[in-house]
This record gives sequence, C-alpha cells and structure tokens, in this order.
Amino acid sequence: MANWQVPLADINLGTEEIEAVADVLRSRWLSMGPVTAEFERCFAEYVGVKYAFAVANCTAALHLAHMALGAGPGDTIICPSLTFVATANAIRYTGATPVFADITSIDDLNNAPDDIEARIDESTKGICVLHYGGYACNMESIMDIAKRHNLYVVEDAAHAPGAATWITDKDTGRGEKVLRKCGSLGDIGCFSFFSNKNMATGEGGMITTDSDVLAEKIKLLRSHGMTSITWDRDKGHSFSYDVVDLGYNYRIDEMRSAIGLIQLRKLERNNRKRAEVTNIYRENLQDLDEISIPFLNTNSISAYHIFPILLKSGSERPRFMQFMRDKGIQTSIHYPPVHTFSHYRSCYQPGSLPITNEVAARVVTLPLYPDITREQLEYVIEMLNQWSILLK
Ligand SMILES: *Cc1c(COP(=O)(O)O)cnc(C)c1O
Repeated sequence: MANWQVPLADINLGTEEIEAVADVLRSRWLSMGPVTAEFERCFAEYVGVKYAFAVANCTAALHLAHMALGAGPGDTIICPSLTFVATANAIRYTGATPVFADITSIDDLNNAPDDIEARIDESTKGICVLHYGGYACNMESIMDIAKRHNLYVVEDAAHAPGAATWITDKDTGRGEKVLRKCGSLGDIGCFSFFSNKNMATGEGGMITTDSDVLAEKIKLLRSHGMTSITWDRDKGHSFSYDVVDLGYNYRIDEMRSAIGLIQLRKLERNNRKRAEVTNIYRENLQDLDEISIPFLNTNSISAYHIFPILLKSGSERPRFMQFMRDKGIQTSIHYPPVHTFSHYRSCYQPGSLPITNEVAARVVTLPLYPDITREQLEYVIEMLNQWSILLK
C-alpha cells in the first residue's frame, strides 16, 4: 500500500480470516459448497430475507438481478448517475438502457422519488436505486411509485450491508413502522464484498430476495442455467443435469465465503465504529463555513460506508485534494457521474441532472474505516481547519 499517513480506506482483517481460509484449503473442497451455503444462510438471516445467493461480485449480482426480472432490449431502467459505473453497466448487459434520475438535494445524495417518477414512460421496466454511502433511500415512496406503475425495484446495496430504514408494516394494517434492512426492501438486493467495502472478501457479492420464483431463476443463471452444481453431484444428490436457460459462471468460491462469514460476524461492530468516526467528523466539521456535510438529517440506520463532504465550489477541489495529499491524507471522489463518461454520453440530455452535476463537482470523500485511530482522525480534522483558514 502507498505510504499515506491516513489512507482513504482500510480493511479489518485478522487471524480469524486467515484460519478460516486455511481450513477451507485443508478441506480440499475449494469451489462453491458447504461454506458458501452457510455464508448464504447467515447473510439471508441477517438481512431478513428468504434467500441469499453468493456470487463473484456485485456487478454480477446486479446483472443477474436485472436478468431475473426480465429486462432486455427496448426496456429502460431508471437509476442514479451519481454511482459507480457498475450500476449502469449491469443494466446495459441485458440490452436495456439506463435512464438517469437526479439526486434529491445537496443534503440527500440519493435519487429523488419524484424525479424517478417524472422519468417513467411506456419503456420503463424497473428502477435500480443506490443507498449512497450506506444511507437508505426513501424506499417507502420508491416502492409506492413502483407499485403504481408496475415496475420492479433492484437495490444496489453495495454500500449498505447492515443499513436499515423504517417502513410501514403492511401485515398489521395498522400503519406501524418497522425497521427493515437494505436489501430486503425491493424485489432484489445486491451487495459487494470488494476490498474497500464494509465487508471485504477481495472479490465477492451477494444477491438477496424474498421471491421463490426469482430465487429459482437466480440460482440457475448463476451457474450456466444448470439444474445441479458439482457439489450436489459429489454428495450423490444427482448424477447429471439439464441446461434450461442461458446462464453464466458467476459463482463465488469457498475461500471467499469463509472470509465472508467472519466479515459478516464483525459487520455490526465495524459499522458501529464507522458511525463513531462519522459522528466525530460531524461534531468537528459542522461549523466550518467552507464545507457542507450531506445526510445530517437521516433517521434511518446507515452503514456509514463513506464520509463525503461538499466544498463551496467545484473549482477549489483540485487544490483541496492536492493540499490533503501533501499532508499525507488520501481523499477521493464518489463519483464522477456515469452520464459524463464517453460510453454513456448518449444516455444524457443536457440540463436534466442539475443537482447531480452540482454535487459531482463539489464532493470529496474523506478517510473512513473502522480502525482509523483517534490521532489520524484529529489530524484530518486539523488539516481541514488549516484549509479553511487558507481560504480566508
Ligand atoms: C463497488 C460497487 C459496485 C460493484 O461491486 P463489485 O463487487 O466490485 O462488482 C456496484 N455498485 C456500487 C455503488 C459500488 O460501490
């Protein structure tokens, strides 16, 4: 790793993960099998869904989600532009076209429900929302819009394992609010276990759903459309298989699932530490006139994946990031919006994403990870204060 005094992110890995991988290697069963089944069982239980399927990465999860929900050529899917490009790429893999909806405000970087609704037309097949930074979208409104227009909803929950939000409980009919985890709110949820995410397995992802029908499709499409996997045949459960659909090899392996099981066990603790870091940032930076901090007024439970701030203007961002770099502090931009990439320019009508453009120009992500030290944190805060004095 480069020699940052304070890196942008860092993983929480220990001997437990090393031992778990060593156990898998000693077992001599490396591809998808019992450890993956256990990882899926624990993850489904944690998120509060009937089914979870571990996959190669979150991009594969998103692709499977849109495929299972029937997206194809001629369809459009509404999604954010202020996201990692995978959100849009996964839509394009199916032949469908992304339509970018604007974010809510400089305080709420999630898609605005009314802007999603404004972009619905006869080609719209579904909606893919991102819980930016681990802060839950307004899912009550989004699910309501989807229901009225007969659209599906995929949650890109890459930032949001452990995040939760209040939803009206339909079961009691009394309008009570219940806390439900991100990834259990739409038709399908997609998670990433890439190295810089809240749960890290190197590469890896998970797809969650409550639907029996979707679960069956996802299971098939994950592994070539085959009706059984090698592990079933090894166990003597089946001798052959049929191929009933055009599927992919999007499987995870046992080493990654073993790491994932440990990372899942640590998730609540690590998210709590991320929350503490976020609160210290907020307390110390809230009064700085030179920046603003999004998501200060959320009553959902965040996964605190990243800590974005907004500078007063986009023109000072290169100097700010260079200033921090000179102090040994790594910062980043989440995200260069997808509609500005060459490949996606044709999906954009100029003027249609004013808030996304404003935020994308001004946003900077500060270091945030569970084991950041008090000294590192105070150092970052001190350097932000120095920067604000420089501007005066
Ligand atoms: C990381 C990320 C992905 C892709 O995850 P991979 O596991 O790397 O494929 C998708 N969407 C968002 C918002 C992400 O941050």
